[in-house]
Amino acid sequence: MSQKNPYEIAVEQLERAAEIIDLDKDIVERLKRPDRVLIVSIPVRMDDGSLKVFVGYRSQHNNALGPYKGGVRYHPNVTLEEVMALSMWMTWKCAVAGLPYGGGKGGVVVDPKKLSRGELERLSRGYFAAIARIIGPDIDIPAPDVYTDPQTMAWFMDEYSRLYGYNVFGVVTAKPTIIGGSEGRLTSTSRGLFFVVEEAAKAIGLDLKNATVAIQGYGNVGSFTHKFLEEAGAKVIAVSDSKGAILTSPDKPLKFEEVIRVKRKTGSVINVKGVKKITNEELLELDVDILVPAALENVITEKNAPNIKAKIVAEGANGPTTPEADDILYKNGVLVLPDILANAGGVSVSYLEWVQNRMGYYWTPGEVDAKLKDIMVKAFMNVWNTAQRYNVDMRKAAYVYAINRVVEAMRWRGWI
Ligand code: NAD
Repeated sequence: MSQKNPYEIAVEQLERAAEIIDLDKDIVERLKRPDRVLIVSIPVRMDDGSLKVFVGYRSQHNNALGPYKGGVRYHPNVTLEEVMALSMWMTWKCAVAGLPYGGGKGGVVVDPKKLSRGELERLSRGYFAAIARIIGPDIDIPAPDVYTDPQTMAWFMDEYSRLYGYNVFGVVTAKPTIIGGSEGRLTSTSRGLFFVVEEAAKAIGLDLKNATVAIQGYGNVGSFTHKFLEEAGAKVIAVSDSKGAILTSPDKPLKFEEVIRVKRKTGSVINVKGVKKITNEELLELDVDILVPAALENVITEKNAPNIKAKIVAEGANGPTTPEADDILYKNGVLVLPDILANAGGVSVSYLEWVQNRMGYYWTPGEVDAKLKDIMVKAFMNVWNTAQRYNVDMRKAAYVYAINRVVEAMRWRGWI
């Protein structure tokens, strides 16, 4: 596990990519730092009558391409450095997806599981009111992240609308559909990941029909990735969650409907009947065509990377592969689809939601799906072509492509 904090890692990644394109060091200096960071105190009256003051952050990294965009997380371990790093990664992710957005991220230092619903609502409204002056549909558009959800977004939107005196639906995304949320948001990240895997398979001549798959993590991203790959004819033979992993054979692949039913009923995939139990570590090293890490960061390291047999590693999770592991996988011919490309479907449907809010006209699930596919296929092709051009792995290519877009916008605007 790396000792560096997330911001140091983000800066290092930026510097490495900048080297490939020989980027002016003044520009690198500018891109290392967020444009603005706001630290706020949020006083909340607790149910027992006491007052607690929580700390909240919003980091706005760069808005050369459009308004800042990125989630808000509620977690006891949230730090300023983490939020700054995440906002930089959002700049690159939005640029890779070709969205007219910059990067932002927010966080509140809190364990939301210890708060009542009323306390959570007061905290959410307090946080949003405190950052409201630097937020807006043309300024910065938050969304959910760890332990925030459509209900949090509904409170954010309502608080902002109350402050400004009219309904401002486009100020946050991933809202409930009844108040401006988009069709397809729930499955957007896994759907986007599927489209990228489909293109990657074509590019390396792998037939998705009958390709074998292992998925680590069976939450929002992992479970729906199972569904979409199964629909395309792929054979998901191993899945896992925090309790363990299960394995079957390609002639008896795991069925999404059954695994999700067992997961919902018993709390874990390990209770599926008639399968072999393995560990999460073993799952990563299985002889499959496609491996989808969709749980935690830093799970593919220099220790296990030499044993990875998959042809494609599609990063549903953020940061599952360490830089050392990246080099090993590249040398071994494994095609890694990096997080800022592979899991950009979520922010892409957020963009589509924002567009619909601004039009006041809403698309059908089919229309949203077609637009998402268009975004993801283009993103894949742009990163793929960059990788060929610079002879680098897909992660470096994604960074190079993203940085080039941001820098081009900065040049035209006369910032550099
Ligand atoms: P989630 O909370 O719905 O699911 C996480 C899953 O990981 C759960 O099944 C959990 O049991 C499992 N897990 C936890 N610890 C594990 C362990 N040690 N080994 C194996 N599995 C373990 O989360 P999610 O929304 O599916 O997000 C998963 C990853 O994808 C995260 O890294 C997240 O940042 C990233 N991501 C999510 C979205 C999104 O739209 N949901 C978008 C971009 C990136």
